[in-house]
Amino acid sequence: MTTTDVQAVHAVDVRGVHKSFGSLEVLKGVDLTVRQGEVTVILGPSGSGKSTLLRTLNHLEKVDRGSIRIDGELVGYRRRGNILRELRDRDILRQRSKIGFVFQNFNLFPHLTVLENVTEAPISAQRRDRGEVTAEARQLLERVGVADKADRYPKQLSGGQQQRVAIARALALRPKVILFDEPTSALDPELVGEVLDVIRDLARAGATLVIVTHEIGFAREVADTVVFMDDGVVVEQGAPAQVLDHPTHDRTRAFLSRVL
Ligand code: ADP
Ligand code: MG
Repeated sequence: MTTTDVQAVHAVDVRGVHKSFGSLEVLKGVDLTVRQGEVTVILGPSGSGKSTLLRTLNHLEKVDRGSIRIDGELVGYRRRGNILRELRDRDILRQRSKIGFVFQNFNLFPHLTVLENVTEAPISAQRRDRGEVTAEARQLLERVGVADKADRYPKQLSGGQQQRVAIARALALRPKVILFDEPTSALDPELVGEVLDVIRDLARAGATLVIVTHEIGFAREVADTVVFMDDGVVVEQGAPAQVLDHPTHDRTRAFLSRVL
């Protein structure tokens, strides 16, 4: 087996990633492995670097040091012999379309209808057939329970409906992995459940998911692995029962005692 074969079994492989904003070092050597078909939940206090980590996976931030592989492919770089070259924009778009990203504030395109929000990237970035993409988009809207809103605009929908559209939009890329950055934090409490239900269904269907959330009960239920981040590093990770009920680090214990 070659090295590439070994790495290809992991949906996400982060090694020694460092990232600073000016003099503020936000990621201080992050290692993280996500296996295909698994759900990883990342917990940690505000400011610990969770969003920055997710953003590096999707080229929204560039790392200073370390490496990231998605589905075995080096993110941001291409190897030529022993030389690493930065990718061209076109290749970055291609890499990005392997990853679905669901943001806290939905980030739907306000000037596009719900259906157009879902079909935009597959048609423009992935250059897939419009008819096929549209048919698939309608099925995805059905799956997340907003098929009847296809011709509405985002601002005509509730937060929960918008977030479900955002999930359909992520799925439309046929991504290798979907990243969720606090997907329910901006929602009114009564709308949280409908979004968690959709994410739970994806998890059951075997999707590879990385979810930053403060919903500990949900983490316990859906996660294969819980990762606790603090101050720019992964402090501990393991099965939910292990990390949530028997944390080995004081920092994890202190965090859990605050949120539980
Ligand atoms: P979390 O998602 O865990 O709350 P973030 O990754 O958003 O943490 O932020 C980690 C730290 O990095 C915070 O101190 C934040 O203020 C800082 N930070 C994040 N993005 C930027 C940026 N673009 N410029 C400067 N500082 C940033
Ligand atoms: Mg964040």
